[in-house]
Amino acid sequence: MPRRGLLLILSSPSGAGKSTMARRLMEWDTTIRFSVSATTRKPRPGEEHGVHYWFHDHDGFRRLIEAGGMLEHAEVFGNFYGSPRAPVEKAMAEGRDTLFDIDWQGGQQIKQAMRDDVVSVFILPPSIAELERRLRGRGQDSDEVIAGRMAKSRDEISHWLEYDYVLVNHEVEATFADLQAIVTAERLKRNRQPGLTGFVRALNTEFDAR
Ligand code: ADP
Ligand code: 5GP
Repeated sequence: MPRRGLLLILSSPSGAGKSTMARRLMEWDTTIRFSVSATTRKPRPGEEHGVHYWFHDHDGFRRLIEAGGMLEHAEVFGNFYGSPRAPVEKAMAEGRDTLFDIDWQGGQQIKQAMRDDVVSVFILPPSIAELERRLRGRGQDSDEVIAGRMAKSRDEISHWLEYDYVLVNHEVEATFADLQAIVTAERLKRNRQPGLTGFVRALNTEFDAR
């Protein structure tokens, strides 16, 4: 039955586990489209243009905004980040879900523009000490960058009330099971199943024919 695609927004302080959850979701359901953000931040080792991010310089990024190509954009850690509009509109038209790994500012903007289609999930760390352990364990950032991310975490966490769902990420498997439950239930909402009207009409026709 045709379904209206979801815009699934995952936010968390950096290091709480949203990339891990995003990866698990897309392995679970390969029809989910990841919204590859544009950014002015430099690539980290192993990051590919068009896969993890679209990497732009400031001028290129500004041109994208001016052309109306961004669904939302925000400044995070001194760099610009934004979600390109066209792939999201394409996925919606095809009835596919789009997954966003974006901060609270982006989440707010997409919610304002497309409220009925948004499902937002905030991921909290079990503790601040564990958040720092995870950031260090990831082994991708210098001490200075980690300190910057930790300083920003308090601000990011202060937006937890703006989200539909909140998961405390103690353990990957348990958190992922909760996330699957959220996605499964949200897909079944009546207004996301436009084919139901015709389906029930057909049931009634079947009644009439008895
Ligand atoms: P984010 O995308 O929010 O910055 P990541 O998904 O990259 O966070 O996770 C940060 C680090 O913590 C990674 O090394 C990841 O493997 C690890 N991690 C994620 N979730 C858990 C968890 N529940 N328990 C322990 N380590 C975790
Ligand atoms: P990172 O540099 O670690 O990849 O991401 C830093 C922060 O930017 C994360 O909180 C991430 O969710 C956020 N972010 C990534 N892409 C976007 C985007 O397109 N828009 C917004 N608003 N935030 C983003």
